[in-house]
Amino acid sequence: MYDVLQTATSEDPAGSEYDPHAMYGSSFVVPVCGFVCRLCNKFFYTETAARHTHCRTHTHYLNLQRRGRREESNEGDVT
Ligand SMILES: [Zn+2]
Repeated sequence: MYDVLQTATSEDPAGSEYDPHAMYGSSFVVPVCGFVCRLCNKFFYTETAARHTHCRTHTHYLNLQRRGRREESNEGDVT
């Protein structure tokens, strides 16, 4: 398969060495604009939905309580 060498700069990283100047898998990067609750891992498009609606939900409240208890001993644990 000689064409592997010829397509070293393509988006397929198989068989080629890493090149810091090449782009790999750029199709996995998509533009987003919104808000994420890091407690609940939930995504919202608008600040209103995130803060004014989500922050009043019981689930978010419970996650906040759980987080508050764990924060001192397990700060580095991020998914
Ligand atoms: Zn939340």
